[in-house]
Amino acid sequence: MENKQIIEFTCAAPDCGRPVRFDLDDLDPDHPSLKCRACGRSYTLPDGAVRKLGLLKELIEAIRKARPILGESSVGIEVAGHKVSVPYYLLLTRMTSELALQIDDEKLDFHFIVKPLKSENKP
Ligand SMILES: [Zn+2]
Repeated sequence: MENKQIIEFTCAAPDCGRPVRFDLDDLDPDHPSLKCRACGRSYTLPDGAVRKLGLLKELIEAIRKARPILGESSVGIEVAGHKVSVPYYLLLTRMTSELALQIDDEKLDFHFIVKPLKSENKP
């Protein structure tokens, strides 16, 4: 089964700010580097970054697999005076799909682009 998780962060180059997307499996674990396709700026991931992203990927996968038992329950939160029910699955996915990493002198937020499951396309 195809099981790719695309990761995205915002290019930190001045006047760029475009999304840089990559697949964890495409990185060289010994020399993890990335290049912004829009401006050409290159990023070298710090030690341990690939491992951390890999752990996060596994966590997201575990949550996806547990969806049948998480999908039925929801968490009630107050938004501007209204009570909103947020499905537990969605809440967990949002919580775990971001990782902040220090790269050179900048702190960048890496987001996993969580693809919706087929059943989520239903209205
Ligand atoms: Zn760029």
